[in-house]
Amino acid sequence: MAGKIVINEELCKGCALCVEFCPRDLIKPTRRLNAKGYYVVIFDPDGGECTACTLCAVICPEVSIEVYRE
Ligand code: SF4
Ligand code: SF4
Repeated sequence: MAGKIVINEELCKGCALCVEFCPRDLIKPTRRLNAKGYYVVIFDPDGGECTACTLCAVICPEVSIEVYRE
């Protein structure tokens, strides 16, 4: 089942745990800062299909990722 995620950039603290844990390597670091001065990450599904496994959302300490099944 295909999925997608939505990252709340203003909650993100740039820890990159989601980048490390996504088994499909679909979350990438950026050099863009949010209002609090943290580098945010982006969802980049070009590299493969999100399976909606929810690992990224579970691992995120800031609860800034929501997962949707399509
Ligand atoms: S739900 Fe799973 S596959 Fe989709 S972005 Fe998160 S960790 Fe990656
Ligand atoms: S795990 Fe959460 S806080 Fe850390 S980089 Fe990913 S979205 Fe941001």
